Amino acid sequence: MFSNRNSLSRSELIRAGAAALSLSVVGAGASVNAANAAPQGAVSPSDALDRLAAGNKRFVSGSIKNYEGIPERRLALAGGQAPYASVLSCSDSRVPPELVFDEHVGDLFVVRNAGNFVFPDVLGTLEYGYSVLGVKLIMVLGHDSCGAISATYDALKEQRTLPPNLDVIQKAIQDGIRSVVTSNGTKNAATIANAKAQATRMKSSPVLGPAIESGDCKVVAAEYHLASGKITFL
Ligand SMILES: [Zn+2]
Repeated sequence: MFSNRNSLSRSELIRAGAAALSLSVVGAGASVNAANAAPQGAVSPSDALDRLAAGNKRFVSGSIKNYEGIPERRLALAGGQAPYASVLSCSDSRVPPELVFDEHVGDLFVVRNAGNFVFPDVLGTLEYGYSVLGVKLIMVLGHDSCGAISATYDALKEQRTLPPNLDVIQKAIQDGIRSVVTSNGTKNAATIANAKAQATRMKSSPVLGPAIESGDCKVVAAEYHLASGKITFL
């Protein structure tokens, strides 16, 4: 899907998006009920946020509804996708976005890495979600007891650098949590600071920045709680 991403200019990407948009609406609308697959671009940021919150409530209460109809849904979406929200979450195996928001195949456009941080590839992916797929809500989802945050916190505290490759995580996270570390704040406070900092970083995108400024796209930070399953909006 993204194999030729680098060869496309932004204008080409946006033009391609218009074509993909119409294809996806047809594909999604053919046999999927409207409650589960709104046309792309039709879900406002506030409605998307309400839907995520409602799904998380079902997940917490154990009344998950989206386990049914998976084969039908898969077939209906084979011609195009119509996600209503993008989620940048940690790779932690205990925080799978589709499950914790009780969503279906095709509902969420998800990027994951250890520490839910923004890097150019992540930003490019989220730009694609907005400009091509029409997703107007982006959630940065941190969680308590995050190993990536803990490792970066400790490295900063001990004034050392994480080993090669892992140091990428540190570079992406440390600026956002430095004040928490220097003031001896908790690692959970660092998790919250990181989610907020990464959400703020989206504004640097030439695609997302103006959209956030105009209100057409909204970015929210949130924290997932491992034991309760609850999401707290930050
Ligand atoms: Zn984590």
